[in-house]
Amino acid sequence: MRNKPWAKDYVAEHTERLVEEPEPLKGKWQSRFPKDQPLYVEIGTGKGQFIVEMAKAHPDRNFIGIEIQFSVIAAALKKVVASELTNIQLVHTDGEAVNTFFAAGEIAGLYLNFSDPWPKSRHAKRRLTSPVFLAHYADVLQPEGAIQFKTDNRGLFEYSLGSLNNFGLVFDGVWLDLHAATDDVEDIQTEYEQKFSAKGPIYQVIAHFPT
Ligand code: SAM
Repeated sequence: MRNKPWAKDYVAEHTERLVEEPEPLKGKWQSRFPKDQPLYVEIGTGKGQFIVEMAKAHPDRNFIGIEIQFSVIAAALKKVVASELTNIQLVHTDGEAVNTFFAAGEIAGLYLNFSDPWPKSRHAKRRLTSPVFLAHYADVLQPEGAIQFKTDNRGLFEYSLGSLNNFGLVFDGVWLDLHAATDDVEDIQTEYEQKFSAKGPIYQVIAHFPT
């Protein structure tokens, strides 16, 4: 997404919704919400469709969307403001650093949706399901707190199953074609999911760290 001229001012006008310096909030994220409720985080939130729909569907939870690209999170911010929902906050930062701005056990669940595949093996460390990221997620997720990952990219999915397994995560479910699933698994669709599901299956895994 190209740089949006309106984005800088818009973000500056909505500091109640979007955090640019998350570290001081470590262990204190509930102070950003009207109600103290379980906290769910999405890394790579894109333009915010999933997090807004999740917040609408689950008023009894608080949500944080993390996005590294400024112009992209500015688009998410517009959606969040328009929704008038009070149970969403956005953070403009690199999700790899989650352990520097969440305290141990502060997060009840984590969503990774259509993460960038980084297909070259020399870039594997940048994948959101690489061991570097998993180690940081382990620091901040509550015991039994799940990682829910979905993608249309088979290569990234295979890599992620291996990576989660090697890290010792316990699998709660694996879907090789989520949209054909007959169980009643919740599937609030992301922007990429709507764009790419016509071209092939959507893969999903839900797993948690051993307790
Ligand atoms: N989740 C959205 C969806 O499904 O429609 C967007 C998917 S898009 C392919 C991946 C997004 O993840 C991009 O907006 C990208 O900037 C963001 N991203 C990639 N690496 C990230 C990181 N380390 N921390 C935060 N966001 C990241």
